[in-house]
Amino acid sequence: RRPPGERLVGQLATLSTQLGNRLGALRALETSRLEAATDKLTGLPNRRLLESQLASLIERSTPFVLVLADLDNFKRLNDSFGHEIGDRALQLFAQVLRDKVRGNDVIARLGGEEFVLVYPNMTVATSIEAVERVRDGLTQSLAVSTVPEFTCSFGITHSSVGRDADAILRVADAGLMRAKELGRDQVVYADETLAARIFGDGDDRRR
Ligand code: GH3
Ligand code: MG
Ligand code: MG
Repeated sequence: RRPPGERLVGQLATLSTQLGNRLGALRALETSRLEAATDKLTGLPNRRLLESQLASLIERSTPFVLVLADLDNFKRLNDSFGHEIGDRALQLFAQVLRDKVRGNDVIARLGGEEFVLVYPNMTVATSIEAVERVRDGLTQSLAVSTVPEFTCSFGITHSSVGRDADAILRVADAGLMRAKELGRDQVVYADETLAARIFGDGDDRRR
């Protein structure tokens, strides 16, 4: 019921200054952590964040479908229209991904014109429908945009094909390679057998 003495006021002032500094430092740390996990061009999570998210899904034994997406003939788009238009195409594709994912789904830019979608607790059949919606979304976005038309190929696999993220990504990459071989603009499911055939290892050598 008495106003605090001068000494206490001084101590409180010091404490609040220190708290303010500490909060500022924490906030700056959080911002730089977010920046380190975000791709500058598209604002999507980057490869680093993707890897930690995949690791935690695997650690918790949560099954997931992994989709590797690679824009088709992107070098040609850059060469014909310029790098800036290429950048806008990447941003448009990122927005399509953001529009189409929901809940616990994960999207990321792996680098260049490659992206990853992760669907936890989803069957491959359902995920193929989800990816088809991404393809439709891309067509629709391009129709109302000044970005020149382009397509995307997708390789899909399930987390059960590999023990770690690299192994799973590798199998999805086999699906992607097959999608390119088959003429691009399509979705191909891959398992270990297809991966072995495409990369010429394992089963293939025994045959
Ligand atoms: P494919 O259908 O087989 O995938 O052919 P592609 O031309 O898409 O593949 P390739 O790997 O030959 O070329 C990828 C191109 O993507 C080359 C590179 O210039 C372009 N690229 C990668 N990152 C960026 C970027 O950040 N901005 C722009 N504008 N282009 C990029
Ligand atoms: Mg590529
Ligand atoms: Mg490409």
